[in-house]
Order: sequence, then C-alpha cells, then structure tokens
Amino acid sequence: MPATASRLQVFTESVIRGMSRLATRHGAINLAQGFPDFDPPEPVLAALERATRGPFHQYAVTWGAPRFREALARKISLRTGLEVDPERHLVVTCGSTEAMMVAMMTACNPGDRVIVFSPFYENYAADAILSGAEPIYVPLRAPDFRYDPAELARAFAQKPKAIIVCNPSNPTGKVFTRAELTEILALAEQHDAFVITDEPYEHIVYPPHEHVYAAALPGAMARTITCNSLSKTYSITGWRLGYVHAAPEVIAQARKVHDFLTVGAAAPLQEAAVAGLELPESYYEELLASYTAKRDVFLGFLRQTGLEFTEPQGAYYVLVNIEGLGFDTDSVAAEWMIREIGVAGVPGSSFFRDPEHRFIRFHFAKKEETLRAAGERLLRLREFAGKPEAVAESRRRLSL
Ligand code: GLN
Repeated sequence: MPATASRLQVFTESVIRGMSRLATRHGAINLAQGFPDFDPPEPVLAALERATRGPFHQYAVTWGAPRFREALARKISLRTGLEVDPERHLVVTCGSTEAMMVAMMTACNPGDRVIVFSPFYENYAADAILSGAEPIYVPLRAPDFRYDPAELARAFAQKPKAIIVCNPSNPTGKVFTRAELTEILALAEQHDAFVITDEPYEHIVYPPHEHVYAAALPGAMARTITCNSLSKTYSITGWRLGYVHAAPEVIAQARKVHDFLTVGAAAPLQEAAVAGLELPESYYEELLASYTAKRDVFLGFLRQTGLEFTEPQGAYYVLVNIEGLGFDTDSVAAEWMIREIGVAGVPGSSFFRDPEHRFIRFHFAKKEETLRAAGERLLRLREFAGKPEAVAESRRRLSL
C-alpha cells in the first residue's frame, strides 16, 4: 500500500472529539466537546420546519444564500458599526472550522509562519500544517493569560504572515482587551501580517469584560480576516454554519478556496438560520444571562472540590488544575475522571504547545440540571485530592 501524506504524521485526531466518544462509551456526563444539550431558539426551529417544504434542497449560491448573507451583513454591521456588503465582504462556510481553514489557505503560502497563542484551540495547529504554514507559539500565562508584549514583538520579528487570535479564547476564557487588540494590530501593520480572528463566543462575554471586534478597530479592516460561527450563538453546532468576513480583495480569494473545499454550506439550514440572525437584542441578553447562571452553578461546585480553576471572562470553558490528584499525564487523569467520577473533560495538554499536564478542560454549555448532576459527581474529587492511596486503589480497580 502506498504511504499516506507525511503532513498527516505530525498531528493526531482531535482529542476533543475523541473524549466525546470515550464519554459515550462509559456513560459519563460529557463536559468535553463544547456543545449544548438544550434546543436552539424556537423561531429558528420553526423556520427549519418551514424550510424543509421550501425550494432549498439544491445547492445554495457557493458563497452563501443571498438571504442568509444579507441577514448576516445586517447583524455584523449592527454589532461592529462597519459597512458590510453581503456581495463583497462575506463568504459563508461550514462552521468556523472551515472558515479558519479558508482564512489560512487564503493568507498563507507554504513555508509562511503564523503566530498562535498557547494554549490554543486544537484546530489551529492542524490548520497551519494543512495549509503548509509553520506555527510560532507565544504563551498566554495563567492566571490571567496575558501575553508578554516583548515575546509577541519577538515573534513578529520572525516575519509571520498572520497571527491567529481566538477571542473570547478557547480554552482559557480570556477576553482580549481593546488595548491588547490595538497592540496586536499595530504589530501586524508594522510587519505587514494578517490578523485572523476566531470569534464564535462573541455573545458570551461576562461583564465587566466586553467583546471588541478586531475588524472594527481603526484601520483594521484591510488586514483582519474574521472567522465566526452561528454554532454557539444559536445553539446549532450540528448545522455547521460559519463565515469569513474580510476586505473585498481577501474575500475574492477566499471564495475560491471555499468553493473548491466544500462548494457550500447546507441550503435549508442557511434559510432557517436567517430567523436566528433576525432575533431581537433581548435574545442576546437572555443568552448571556443564561450562560452567566450556568457559569455560576458550575463554578460553585468546582469551588467546593477545593481544586483550583480558571474563571472565564468569556466563552464557556474552565481549566481545572488536577495536580492534587497526582497523575503523571492528564490523558490518564481524564480517562480516570470519566470512569471513576463519571464526568468527561478534555486533557489540557491538547491545547498547549509545551508539555503541560496540570489541567483538564470542562465546559458548561449544558442545562442546569446536567451541570448539577455533573457537579455532584465532581464533588467526589474531595475523596481523592491529596490522597494518593485512594487514587492508587481506584486505578487498580479500573486497571488504569
Ligand atoms: N469548540 C468546541 C470545543 O472546543 C467544539 C469543537 C468541535 O468539536 N468542533 O470543544
């Protein structure tokens, strides 16, 4: 049999999706892969029902159904204050996952360098490799996950073609400040690099933090490629709807990449999602209130476990420090957590550039009852934290 491509030897399958499968196998509550267990808003579901009987069963326009792109342009314009022309500024993609791949392939030549903050959402390293680019990592350090401006400047001195900014950040929950984004943009301008942002959690930002759209900063539009998704905002992760928003010259190229990668996103789902894009402001207020309540419930349980954890400024992920459980590697700890405690998380190491085994990432995009059930289970960590014999005994029992 011929050998498969060598670029595939340097990264693994997604650990996040793998943990979801392991959770299912062992019947654990899945707080690993970040997706809701509650329904999308009612108007979106009603629109989906209507769409099934409409003329939406063949290909939509490759860069997005006109009605969807128009609604998207109105929403983005309202949020950012930018003029958004649905014909020139947008490409609709299959989730932000495709949007990021399109952005990378549009911006980078093989061999170009791309700055990635570490920890990072695991797709970015794979996106870089698949597009032939080489990631340069700049650490975000706990507890507040700020970058060191000198380190960032040194990374830019290596002449990268782009920097990837996940804002709000998965997995740290960091929300980049206006000052930080301004600084990143100034460096990008100085070194003529693109700023590729990934912003699916734009509406899940806990006050006093606020979401700043990099593209809307003065002069930023020419070099900012914004990737985004409807998955988290409308609780439709399975619909795979996302988009790239950028300057017309960039979009003209991005359309080609998207066209040959996927042709287009699902036509009936684009039609139905218009109902989401047209929801009133109160929807976003309720979404945030609901995630704030979920965060408070989940963090309340974590506090009782006595373990340390990050308090997210935005998005719905928490990195829990599991050093007290005494595992050498976080992947064994995560499997133990599934089998002994009954709650699935993602081993933190899959988000870090350097070997880092102190964290497991949990998410709280779940109904309160699910979070309470998971929280009750997590309280059992008190039987194990700082008690190596109890952990050893459990591992023997589980042959782990
Ligand atoms: N963004 C979510 C996470 O980080 C889900 C990612 C995915 O599986 N596409 O868990």
